[in-house]
Amino acid sequence: MINIAIDGPAGAGKSTIAKLIAKKKGYIYLDTGAMYRAIAVWCIKAGVDVNDEKAVSQILETVEMDIVYIDNVQHILVCGEDVTSKLRENNISKAASDVSKHPCVRVKMVELQRLFAKKHDVVLDGRDIGTYVLPDTPYKFFLTATPEERARRRKLDLEKTGQSADFNVILEEIKQRDYNDSHREFAPLKQADDAVFIDSSDMTIDQVAEFIIDRL
Ligand code: C5P
Repeated sequence: MINIAIDGPAGAGKSTIAKLIAKKKGYIYLDTGAMYRAIAVWCIKAGVDVNDEKAVSQILETVEMDIVYIDNVQHILVCGEDVTSKLRENNISKAASDVSKHPCVRVKMVELQRLFAKKHDVVLDGRDIGTYVLPDTPYKFFLTATPEERARRRKLDLEKTGQSADFNVILEEIKQRDYNDSHREFAPLKQADDAVFIDSSDMTIDQVAEFIIDRL
């Protein structure tokens, strides 16, 4: 199976690029961030504090996650409930970052991701795909851009879905999430030694996609 790992910080354009490459190559796209977001949604719905590792691990025991594709769009079902429409709500970004630091959460998500990668040609985007989930894949990319450029893109994304967004607030959130994701103990955000580094600050989506496809 062909497994393409695209890691990097929030707002670097990973999902847009990964989707485009998957479409061009006829592979499946797996948004691993959405899996952590789904766990955050589930915890909040159950009234569980995402920072409380014990409570999170208890609820996790009852969680069954299914990833399905409807009209080529990834949907996440938790215990049979489609939570996809809730994943992009702004408060979920920070909650997902908080909940994803718990090893119990990561172990369960990584197991699902590895199973998926074994069965399909897939482009995965995330934080730890090249370093931890699929360390043996030869196709690893680390995609980043300046925090300011990433905040600008996130603001546009939020506005497209009708959510109001203050640039400075988003910039602060992005910096905090970068810090959180790269300083957690277990499988932090980090470029794999053998990943190809891409700074997309001054590149178009098509340029980045082509750059990656040329290296497959
Ligand atoms: O990529 P996205 O912004 O949707 O990810 C949400 C959060 O999920 C990230 O901030 C990160 O904490 C976590 N995540 C992770 N490992 C991944 C993908 C996402 O820890 N492979």
